[in-house]
Order: sequence, then C-alpha cells, then structure tokens
Amino acid sequence: MEKDIIIPFNKPFLTGKETHYIHEAIKLGKISGNGYFTKKCQHFFEERYSFKKALLTTSCTDALEMAAILANIKAGDEVIIPSYTFVSTALAFVRQGAKIIFTDSNKDHPNMDVNLIETLITPATKVIVPVHYAGIACDMDAIMELAKKYNLLVIEDAAQAIDSYYMNKQGKKLPLGSIGHMAAFSFHETKNIIAGEGGMLAINDKQFIDRAEVIWEKGTNRTKFFRGEVDKYGWIDIGSSFLPSEVTAAFLWAQLENLDLIQNKRIKIWNTYFYGLKDLSDQNIIGLSYMPQYATNNGHIFYIILKNIQVREALIAFLKSKQILPVFHYLSLHSSPFYKDKHDGRVLTQTDRYSDCLLRLPFYYDLQENEVNQIVFYIHEFFNINK
Ligand SMILES: *Cc1c(COP(=O)(O)O)cnc(C)c1O
Repeated sequence: MEKDIIIPFNKPFLTGKETHYIHEAIKLGKISGNGYFTKKCQHFFEERYSFKKALLTTSCTDALEMAAILANIKAGDEVIIPSYTFVSTALAFVRQGAKIIFTDSNKDHPNMDVNLIETLITPATKVIVPVHYAGIACDMDAIMELAKKYNLLVIEDAAQAIDSYYMNKQGKKLPLGSIGHMAAFSFHETKNIIAGEGGMLAINDKQFIDRAEVIWEKGTNRTKFFRGEVDKYGWIDIGSSFLPSEVTAAFLWAQLENLDLIQNKRIKIWNTYFYGLKDLSDQNIIGLSYMPQYATNNGHIFYIILKNIQVREALIAFLKSKQILPVFHYLSLHSSPFYKDKHDGRVLTQTDRYSDCLLRLPFYYDLQENEVNQIVFYIHEFFNINK
C-alpha cells in the first residue's frame, strides 16, 4: 500500500472543455451576464428538471437572498429551517429581518424532522425552508401539505441536491428543486456540478417570475427591455447584481454537458464506500446514510456517524496520520455565536448529535476506487485498534 499519497477532502473536477467555452464567450464579445451561455444553462435546467424558470446567480446564497426578497420577508416574519445546515440557509432570511425558527433533524438522517414543523407554525410564519442534506430528499409531500394548510411558501435549499429526486405519494419521480415554490442551487467548487462560485434560483410558481427577473438585474426591467417587451428600461423595484458573468456560465456549461458522467461516477464512488463500510454499520460501530423510500441518491456527500465527538476526533487524527483528510460540519446554527441569544431556547438533540458525530469522507470525481478501498481499510483498522 502506498504510504505517501495524500487524499484531500475535495478536488474540483474539470471536464476539459471549460477554457474552450470561456474562450468562446470572450469571442462572442459579451462577457457580462445573461448572454449566450447563461441562456443555454438556464434552458438546460428548465428542460431537464421542468422548472418554470431558472436564473443563474453568483451563488446559492444569492439565490436564497432573491427568494427571501420574493417571499416579501419583513421584520418579525418567521421562517422555519433546520438548524443542521449551512449558514446561508438562515442568513438570507435574517438579512430581511426574519426571525428564524430552527427545527431539529431526524433521528435516522440529518434532514428536518417534518413531524415537528406543525408545532412551530404561528400566525407570523411565512416560509418553510427544507434543506435536502447530502442531496437526499426531505419528505416534500408532508411539507407541501403543511404549506397549503397554513398558506406558507416553501423554498427548497437544494444547494446539494442537483439531479436528485423525490418520489411523491402518486409514485411520480419529481426532481428536487421542482416541488417548492422556489429553490436555490449551488455550483460552488465543493458541489457535484461546479462553476467556482455560482448558483441558481429555480422558480416553480409563475407569479414570481417577472419580479425575479427585476430583482436579478438591480431592480430594473432590463431583461424585458432586451426581449423587446418594453422600449426603455428603468428602476422599478429593489434588487441587486445577482447575475453571474458569461465567463462563469461558460464554465458551468462544460460541466452540464457532462452531468450524467459526473453523477454516475460519483454514485459509483458512494457505493464503494457504502458496501465497504456496511459491516461496521451492521455491527453498530458506525452509522451510515439512511435512504428514505421516497428519496434517491445523487452521490453528493459520503458521511459516517460516530458514537461521540471523542471517537470522531480520534478517527480524524488517525486518518490524518495516514494522509487522508476527512472533514466535519455544521456547527448547530441555533447555538452559533450570532444566533444563540435570538434562539428560543429549545434543545435540538439530533442537530447537536450530527454536529458532534457526523464525519464526511473524501469525495470527488477523481477519487480512485483503490483510494476509497484504502480509506475503508484504515477505518476498519482504527476500530480494530480501538475495540
Ligand atoms: C453550499 C451550500 C450553500 C451555499 O452555497 P453557495 O453557492 O456557496 O452560496 C447553502 N446551503 C447549503 C445546504 C449548502 O450546502
């Protein structure tokens, strides 16, 4: 076994066509936003995932901010989100003055526990934000029913959920991001499909499309102007510069052309990990990803759950000594320095458990099968030593 190879946590995958398309964008003579490649990417998403409208953004954070503006979030409005998530899920709504009501995760998997949501709904509640952790679907039928009953909006944080699906009660396979009123995706270099920094707002409720285009373009109706629908454009609303340049969109296009290739490879790596570690899970030494009946796997994250934070620390140190770099995340948002004084004091047991015990193993397109097997081998060795 090779000793000195270093297995990083992530390596951005390049298809080889990125610079070619960036060159084309430059040759086309328009490298600001909403040009040839932006439209090509947006069209691809609308066709493949049946979004009513897709708008590329400079990040998923920006897409969430657009969604918070579109949802008309004002001071005092309440937004229900999981505490076990990336900061942007909360931040986008906090910037609009929202009070965040954090939900706990499931016992079996880190997604929000839908059974708790109804108890958290008040007259001030405006939005539910399900986060499809590791690209594995939240129970969207249950969430959409609650939204209907209480007249709430659902904004999916689909940052990790590209090309993943939810099987609804009627047995229909729905792409994640196509179910809520809106959804936000990320093309950050740590995600499956990348553009360096990048994101997308997907809109499924038509009433938001016109205003979304305005907010996207600094509060102007420039998009309508370019389509020839108005004869001059001007300032009509709030907004910001949410659209990425054509350089970013051209990069993204090279990735989208290879989406199936990327997904198949990642799922293969995921399965190698899963079957390699299954015996440890069968013996209750570690926990592995639980896949609800209604969810598919998009090979975004491979994680294991350790018994406690001490075991996790020891395993991280052991793997690092073998030149393997796993990472953990998220520090519970409800007890973060920024939010702990604003949180209502509920204890979120499962959130804190994932925060302490979840460990992500190296995962990227170019990760070789023998490298995965090596990581699997060392994890077994760790538990043999620490019996
Ligand atoms: C990555 C991520 C984000 C933020 O994406 P950016 O494109 O970096 O802004 C938001 N939410 C979740 C759940 C994420 O994993």
